[in-house]
Amino acid sequence: MIKFSSIVNENSKDTFKVGLDIHGVIDSMPEFFSFLSESIIKNGGEVHIITGGEWTQKLENELRSYNIHWTHKFSVYDFLLNSGADNLGEIEFPDGTKQVKFDDVLWDRTKGDYCKDNNINLHLDDTLIYNNYFSTPFARLWSHSNKPKSSHKSVRHLD
Ligand SMILES: [Mg+2]
Repeated sequence: MIKFSSIVNENSKDTFKVGLDIHGVIDSMPEFFSFLSESIIKNGGEVHIITGGEWTQKLENELRSYNIHWTHKFSVYDFLLNSGADNLGEIEFPDGTKQVKFDDVLWDRTKGDYCKDNNINLHLDDTLIYNNYFSTPFARLWSHSNKPKSSHKSVRHLD
């Protein structure tokens, strides 16, 4: 019989990696994710901030104002912009933000691809459709407590 303590000790050689979405996840429960992100890193794990939108200084300042800790960052938008993916025009979000438009499937699968490529143990997101493209563990966070979805969301992602 294998002792539980030896399983734990063996597994502890692995680096645990958690992926966190920002909008609808970190920004909806900032105090919790401040605690969680700091705890993971203090215990030798990695926190990957995995966001759809462009990574800007404003976004980083927002994360710092929540006292979020991270070891890695990834922006779907920046990745696609630099990947040479076809530019399909412009998309405007309900909050007025304008971005280059990319193929919907390409957009929706990029977080899943990143998590697979980087062996993310668990990714937390509020956009359920991304789960269709995940082959690593994905958990959907319902944090809106019956309030309307925020205006940053693409109309495709309002379910
Ligand atoms: Mg989100």
